[in-house]
Amino acid sequence: MIVKKDKQDMLSYLEDTSNFKGDASLLYIPRNKDEVGEALRECVKDKIPLTVSAAGTGTTGGRVPVEGAVLSVEKLDKILDIDFDASTVRAESGISLQDLEKGLNKHNLTLRAQPTEPLAFLGGVVSTCASGPRSFKYDSIRRYVRGLNVVLSDGRQIFIERGGFFAKNRKFDFTIDSSRASMHFEFKLPSYTSPKIKSSAGYFIEDDMDFIDLFIGQEGTLGVITEVELFVQPLVYDIFACIVFFGLEDSALEFVEYIKKMRSRDYLYPCSLEFFDANSLSLLKEDYPSMPSSQAAVYFEQEAEGDHSIDSLINYWSKIIEQKGASLDRCWFAESKSSINRLYEFRHRLPQKINEILRANSQVKMATDIAVPDENFRQMYSFYKKVSRESKIFSVNFGHIGQNHLHFNFLPKNSEEAFKAKGYIMELIEKAVSLKGTISAEHGIGKVKKPYLEIMYGKKHLQEMAALKRYLDPHCILGLDNIFSRELLFNL
Ligand SMILES: Cc1cc2nc3c(=O)[nH]c(=O)nc-3n(C[C@H](O)[C@H](O)[C@H](O)COP(=O)(O)OP(=O)(O)OC[C@H]3O[C@@H](n4cnc5c(N)ncnc54)[C@H](O)[C@@H]3O)c2cc1C
Repeated sequence: MIVKKDKQDMLSYLEDTSNFKGDASLLYIPRNKDEVGEALRECVKDKIPLTVSAAGTGTTGGRVPVEGAVLSVEKLDKILDIDFDASTVRAESGISLQDLEKGLNKHNLTLRAQPTEPLAFLGGVVSTCASGPRSFKYDSIRRYVRGLNVVLSDGRQIFIERGGFFAKNRKFDFTIDSSRASMHFEFKLPSYTSPKIKSSAGYFIEDDMDFIDLFIGQEGTLGVITEVELFVQPLVYDIFACIVFFGLEDSALEFVEYIKKMRSRDYLYPCSLEFFDANSLSLLKEDYPSMPSSQAAVYFEQEAEGDHSIDSLINYWSKIIEQKGASLDRCWFAESKSSINRLYEFRHRLPQKINEILRANSQVKMATDIAVPDENFRQMYSFYKKVSRESKIFSVNFGHIGQNHLHFNFLPKNSEEAFKAKGYIMELIEKAVSLKGTISAEHGIGKVKKPYLEIMYGKKHLQEMAALKRYLDPHCILGLDNIFSRELLFNL
């Protein structure tokens, strides 16, 4: 195992895209899962907090240590096995999504969900329960996780298979027998139920839940994931993508509502349904000067369905686009792989640009990751507009509108604006909770969003989450300061 103690070697691990800055005195880079166990045993012995680090594309400071050790999974980067009969792949947790996809594509396979930024590592994606633009059709990574190899904080390894162990009456009580040891687990689940909408806020909890689901979205607080087994799908070649530029924002919102209503018709089922407001487009205009001027835009991707060819689907979509007040001359259609990639890059360029601006202004990320139920989206949207108007701070609003999940980002120029923006973010969070929404649909809580979780769940449920953590990590060394505060954890 590589162990480093020089601060210079640690600098790149002390931040992520939230710009939250941390500190550490020890860096472990294990080369295999046994070395992960060794590092954890050392930390327990010396009472050193340990934070797991993947690619650092996270937006909440989750992988950033406040003190103690960092364990980087970067050397665990291999595809271990592809089972063609079962359509599954087993890979180490430090492989990037981009390398995983390349390895799968060689065999005409893919992870259709494409859960986030291609540089993110598989273990980071599972640990935040990420879901990308295609989640409208394909959901989050949770749906595809078939198995996990996890090293617990005392260094013991477990392989958890989906369908292996279920809770009964909100309690887990089972024994895992492995070649190395037999381990008994007996603990109560928190009394809340996770929202039915897309959510990555706190531990996933529901009646009769599968044990594996506890470890998806746990943000490095319950164990270190070393291997992931995923369901994969055949590559789709018949697909097209489009960006529709709307003269009026309301037309864009009506277009989205119509598509969501029609989604029950099996041939009209986009994988992505993504929104850009006027300010998002004004930022992108700097990089895409030929973009038609518009008040809002919607990006979608559609795969061929059943007997419907791509041409017939394009005709069908074109009629809807015109009916909803946009002109086909102001649409960017893409059918070839390279042109689809260009549209995808356009979509992806926006969060990259936001992160660059924040970094240049030395500001931490000041954004929401809220999703609300369908029936409350228009109310939430009006509230975003009100906040944007009243705050007088430049903001952009974009993202996964198909799931009522937008990323409202403030881009404060200075600390005065940042302070004001923080207050408005709190208002947005309170509004989302009052509309039965989640405060984090995909990024997780990490360190940056911790203050908001209590608004969503209340103190009692946070204490129950912390108690669960203390059962699985009795020495309280893993992912400290993620999800809930140390005070709450140590004062149970
Ligand atoms: C341009 C851009 C676009 C993005 N778009 C999306 C999007 O569409 N959807 C989305 O969901 N997110 C998006 N994100 C956020 C980010 O990509 C995801 O949160 C991603 O899942 C983080 O993966 P990572 O490997 O970078 O993890 P890191 O940031 O390194 O870590 C994230 C968390 O997981 C924990 N962790 C990491 N590896 C392990 C492990 N092996 N075992 C246990 N815990 C672990 C860490 O401790 C930390 O708490 C975007 C980010 C960027 C920069």
